[in-house]
Amino acid sequence: MSENLWLVVPAAGRGRRMGSDVPKQYLPLRERPVLAHTLARLHRAFPAARLCLCLDVDDDHFDPAWVPFSHWRRTPGGSERVDSVRYALAAMADSAADSDLVMVHDVARPCVTPTDLERLYIALCEDEVGGLLAAPVADTMKRDDGQGRVARTESRCGLWQAQTPQGFRYGLLRRALDEAAVNGLVVTDEASAVEALGLAPLLVPGRRDNIKITHPEDLALAEHILAAQQGASSLNHSHEEAP
Ligand code: C5P
Repeated sequence: MSENLWLVVPAAGRGRRMGSDVPKQYLPLRERPVLAHTLARLHRAFPAARLCLCLDVDDDHFDPAWVPFSHWRRTPGGSERVDSVRYALAAMADSAADSDLVMVHDVARPCVTPTDLERLYIALCEDEVGGLLAAPVADTMKRDDGQGRVARTESRCGLWQAQTPQGFRYGLLRRALDEAAVNGLVVTDEASAVEALGLAPLLVPGRRDNIKITHPEDLALAEHILAAQQGASSLNHSHEEAP
């Protein structure tokens, strides 16, 4: 088991697909910004973790009062998500050991449950490679022909939707992301960089309601999910998530 648990939360995106002037991590969800919900969920599962929060250097929406962690630092955002994560890993070099576990979680996933977070953590502590929360694909998958018509139906057998958190040992994750950069590999998650090293990350089945807020309608969906989760027995302590 690792000495320390680190959380890296990339939150430097502009969220253009939301069509809002305000980045999506600051849009209100049940009267609090998305970012505050996400950090509260992570803190509830891992109160002693150390947090690196990746924020755009020009971000003037952020309020440190939304960070519930006692050990945390702000690191600069990069031009792509992977650059933001690499900056955070570089900033941790003075205090992280290669064997420390690093869990990377998108700020845009505020509905992740403490139960899934804890299950993932336990699985990762026992795994040599690391892994991610993921859900088996439920829909029939179509490949388009580039002109809005179906070229073919893809088999969904064995297909999973990758979620976050994704967790790996610090040394491995740094090497994977550095090599991906050197090789010009486009990586939209940590696992794909680790896969490129020839390793097989562990798929840890997660809840389907760990959605990533991407499009305007996702905000209303997230509201409903949070309300439903709050009503469920495992998450009925609403006051723990108050600012
Ligand atoms: O845009 P998308 O939803 O794929 O972004 C995923 C996560 O990466 C979000 O949490 C976003 O804030 C973050 N991100 C970042 N730096 C970027 C682009 C995205 O930290 N340059």
